[in-house]
Amino acid sequence: MSAPNIETIVSLAKRRGFVYPASEIYGGLGSAWDYGPLGVELANNIKNKWWNWLVHERDDIEGIDSAIIQNRLLWKYSGHETTFSDPLVDCRACKGRYRFDKLQDVKCPLDPSVCAGSGKDCDLTPPRDFNLMFRTTIGAVSTDEDESALAYLRPETAQGIFVNFANVLNTSRRKLPFGIAQIGKSFRNEVTPGNFIFRTREFEQMEMEYFCRAEDAPRLHQEWIDSFVGWFRSLGVSVKNLKLYEQQKNELAHYAARCVDILYRFFPERDDETKQWDELMGIANRTDFDLKTHSKKPEDAEGKRLNPDSTEDLSYFDEATKQRFYPYCIEPAAGVNRALLAILMDAYSEKTNDKGEMRVILKLSPQLAPIKVAVLPLAKNKPELVEMAKSIKRDLQPSMRTVYDDTGGIGKLYARQDEIGTPFCVTVDHESLVDGAVTLRDRDSWAQERINLSVLEDSLQKRLG
Ligand code: ATP
Repeated sequence: MSAPNIETIVSLAKRRGFVYPASEIYGGLGSAWDYGPLGVELANNIKNKWWNWLVHERDDIEGIDSAIIQNRLLWKYSGHETTFSDPLVDCRACKGRYRFDKLQDVKCPLDPSVCAGSGKDCDLTPPRDFNLMFRTTIGAVSTDEDESALAYLRPETAQGIFVNFANVLNTSRRKLPFGIAQIGKSFRNEVTPGNFIFRTREFEQMEMEYFCRAEDAPRLHQEWIDSFVGWFRSLGVSVKNLKLYEQQKNELAHYAARCVDILYRFFPERDDETKQWDELMGIANRTDFDLKTHSKKPEDAEGKRLNPDSTEDLSYFDEATKQRFYPYCIEPAAGVNRALLAILMDAYSEKTNDKGEMRVILKLSPQLAPIKVAVLPLAKNKPELVEMAKSIKRDLQPSMRTVYDDTGGIGKLYARQDEIGTPFCVTVDHESLVDGAVTLRDRDSWAQERINLSVLEDSLQKRLG
């Protein structure tokens, strides 16, 4: 099974320390969330898997980490200053402000049985564009009105990659096709944030720009779509909760030749099956738009430079054909937070024990689990058991995230580890003092086996994968 709804995950996340509401003691901030001890481990594991898979395990991708605040001109030429907006409507009746294309996701406050905009008293203004970029000012002397000091918090990490294309190309001596990957925070002043960490104003992205020849772009685009579906499946996400959505011509960004979204079933509780799905990540063929728009060279019909501010030509010289051109780019863009939510929802399961009590088991892939092993003494009032358990924990912790816990009876301790997705528990009992063996308990099957301490670490390493 998977989680019946996002609310189940919200409560588990708070109860167990994955995610807390931000500024909670001051009443929260609507759509901001803080990652707790387990959440930060899970997010790091997801990011590391992504980074290793793309940057370390392949031969054709480099990583970078660009600044969040860039020269404002970057956002002018990328098109974000003029086009990065969502359609906004106000309701004159309830005074609510909504994203026009997402009205179905919001309940009307005056008539909660229907979506916003469809209640009998709803009175919406015509939609108007609202730019999603957060504004700030740079420098100590600036005032909020000072246009020359205006800057933005980046709304995507991708642009930091495009403007570094020539730098990476020159320093790494790459040949097409090759990619540049980046993980980092992005900021969007979303009109209607919500659904927990699904849509927030501050979030983290994992983006990769794969540069190639125009003629190879359609094939590589399809390959990256297939690869990313495979990646989510390799992390344990069930195929029945994933599907692809081909963006229609009228939905495509102005620069994109094709864009396919990978959707996840974030809303399984909705009666209408088509409304159960929403975007987990997008994979776009962005053509040569970005490298061209940031280049100093291209000119219009009258010979006027399209970008008079750039000092660099971001074209590529092909040694074999002696031709210079602007590469196409395939962009797989994923959100860390949406990936984490999908992974938590998918891992959620319930099981009844032999006393008829319901237990939550988070069947996280062992590679993603925040804690790999919990070492538990069968009795905490027996110093020899406690000492042996603590010493096993110390031995294991350099190679795998291990915790020690003696704050309850063994049944309760197992249940706690099941609920946070710890794949293995190691229990030290009185026999252990005599035979040097411990009990290894498996999270998913609850099966227990006796294992000698001399082979414990090796055996755990193999099982964790
Ligand atoms: P949406 O249509 O849901 O607003 P988008 O198509 O604008 O998303 P992209 O610009 O393609 O999103 O960003 C790539 C990825 O970044 C998304 O697939 C999503 O995983 C993540 N993302 C985008 N906006 C948010 C947000 N406000 N909160 C959390 N994650 C986000």
